[in-house]
Amino acid sequence: MPALRAGYIRLSVRACGVCRTDLHIVEGELPPKGEAIVPGHQIVGDVVESYDPAHKEGSRVGVSWIGGVDGTCSYCQAGAENLCDAPTFTGYDVNGGYAAYADARGDFAFPLGGDLDDLHAAPLLCAGIIGFRALRVAGVLPKERVGLFGFGASAHLALQVLRHWKCEVYVSTRGAKHRAFARSLGATWVGDATEIPPHGLHRAITLAPAGEVVIAALSSLRKGGVVAVNAIHLDRMPQFDYDRLLWGERQIRSVTNMTRADAQDFLQLAAEIPIQSSVTTFPLQEANRALAALKSDAIDGAAVLLPPPVSP
Ligand SMILES: [Zn+2]
Ligand SMILES: [Zn+2]
Repeated sequence: MPALRAGYIRLSVRACGVCRTDLHIVEGELPPKGEAIVPGHQIVGDVVESYDPAHKEGSRVGVSWIGGVDGTCSYCQAGAENLCDAPTFTGYDVNGGYAAYADARGDFAFPLGGDLDDLHAAPLLCAGIIGFRALRVAGVLPKERVGLFGFGASAHLALQVLRHWKCEVYVSTRGAKHRAFARSLGATWVGDATEIPPHGLHRAITLAPAGEVVIAALSSLRKGGVVAVNAIHLDRMPQFDYDRLLWGERQIRSVTNMTRADAQDFLQLAAEIPIQSSVTTFPLQEANRALAALKSDAIDGAAVLLPPPVSP
């Protein structure tokens, strides 16, 4: 156990969600930052030690991908801490939640209400918040037609937000199982991974790390529509026809990290709706099996790791 630093809290991990970003880190698609790292950035834990007066020992909190920012760069000063020049990412720059214990900056830990159990809270912390940010970046308005391209942990939560906003949701994803799952959650239409929905979309969110999916999303937009690309890594961006796909004031935007305001707003909304996350659990020792299942699209909803109970 390292010494706990000022401003930090120590968590006894109760559950940790598995995110595609963990896979990119483990497989080296995101460049390694050091010799070794404990991944995991959807941590639900109990505070067992606190050097932050805002968090009492015994309280339950969530920790997400954004583990800290400098607070001084031009982006932070402008309220865009998701774009901070010197960010700290949980499970990438600092050790994360694939562990029995994890340390986190107190000012980047979110109190969790009593409504959600550990398992169902974990996927909200990145999949949920980032999906919500993607809806914001895309500029979704109530009752619009919105496409979700790819249907994993993030999309199954975003779909519930969209239904709450009375949007029509069009889901393009590979795998009959994922399509049936999307339909069961209220999708208006479902199709294959790069299938174009029958009506022009106001907004589209892509959630698969494949450039061809971005092109399919662009091809689905009506004039003035927006594609928000929710991927920290894309295989490549294919060449596309400007006249047909982008002209007409269509836009393509990336979704990058999150702000604490996104987290707070989403967690509140999730409790109001209330959002139901669909979860498959794995013991912590089987983290590699969980990552492999995620890679092969074998999971409906989100994977969550459970550490063995620790004796005090
Ligand atoms: Zn994540
Ligand atoms: Zn900054």
